[in-house]
Amino acid sequence: MANKYTVPESFFNVLTTKFDSAVKSGDLVFTPSEISYHKVDEIDYVYSVLPGLKSKPNQIADKKKEDESPTPNGKDFDPFDPPAEPLVVLPTYAEKYAVVLNKFAVVPKHFLLITKKREPQSAPLEPSDLTAAYHLLRAANKQSGKRHIGFFNCGVDSGASIDHRHIQFLQLPESTETKKYEPWPDHIAAKHRNEYTDGQKPISLNKTPFFSHFIVPISSESCEQEIDEHLGFRYSTLLSRVLTCIRNNQSTNDMTSTTTAPRSSSISYNLVFTEEWMMAVPRTAPDYIDDGVKIGVNAVGTVGLLLAKSENELNYLKEKGPMTILQNVTIPFTDRKEDVDYDY
Ligand code: AMP
Repeated sequence: MANKYTVPESFFNVLTTKFDSAVKSGDLVFTPSEISYHKVDEIDYVYSVLPGLKSKPNQIADKKKEDESPTPNGKDFDPFDPPAEPLVVLPTYAEKYAVVLNKFAVVPKHFLLITKKREPQSAPLEPSDLTAAYHLLRAANKQSGKRHIGFFNCGVDSGASIDHRHIQFLQLPESTETKKYEPWPDHIAAKHRNEYTDGQKPISLNKTPFFSHFIVPISSESCEQEIDEHLGFRYSTLLSRVLTCIRNNQSTNDMTSTTTAPRSSSISYNLVFTEEWMMAVPRTAPDYIDDGVKIGVNAVGTVGLLLAKSENELNYLKEKGPMTILQNVTIPFTDRKEDVDYDY
């Protein structure tokens, strides 16, 4: 039975047509990337070289700079209020949302679910945000026949660039005989999906060196009436783990720090989801910076999709290894029992 979350049957066709015409008219900047497949320590990675990323504005980083040295008339621009008409796929979806194309596309048909009225990107997601996002992901998969991933970058250190709530969607790289990409949480979520119950500690891959991450399976059999509650409950389990992890990390840093400089108190994390699982990764920095090299990492980086702005950066990434980059912007993985006893 249709309800407010029902996605129109024509959704993906409209999205495709809009994407093609926006590229043609110049309203959308699509930079085709060169991608390469890698396996490092049993994890699949896909590296993309995207020269176009250089021109992308970063509203949150600019705002952070502005906050640090305020200017009297500093006013932050919101590109989603309203979104540009050539990029709009669904002007209204589930009452309070719209679906728009990403103006600076990383892969074709990269799209976003945005709130029609501005809401902060740093606030926790609401059950309706999750339900709307899940329905869109499912519709994109079904209507295109390709597997997509949804992601939410939350907080100043997460890689988010626009302070207006948005959840993004991309088609995952496809595997061929010789090139294989499977997001690493697939395996772990599949292994635990039957025994995992609500309220249980999220699952982590027990691996070092690795970064802190928390995974919950999603039960796609949940009926329409229950999906709100199901997603909301599992997301809140992740969120409480994220908060505990950030708090523990901050107190460890306080104990070992020799400086008196104030530290960032932001709550930043990435949320990544497929039809089968949701994963949260606490973040400590938006970019890996070393020796003049700056590699931005957002949510898709946590499932092995890494972006380089030049061949130089790509070579650097290969040389250092992806885990070095990821570990620098996240919290080291630990599996201590006491971490769970004091969850928020
Ligand atoms: P994030 O950087 O994670 O906050 O995601 C925001 C996304 O919005 C980025 O991928 C940008 O490329 C994209 N974006 C920036 N400006 C616009 C715009 N005017 N319309 C649509 N998408 C945009």
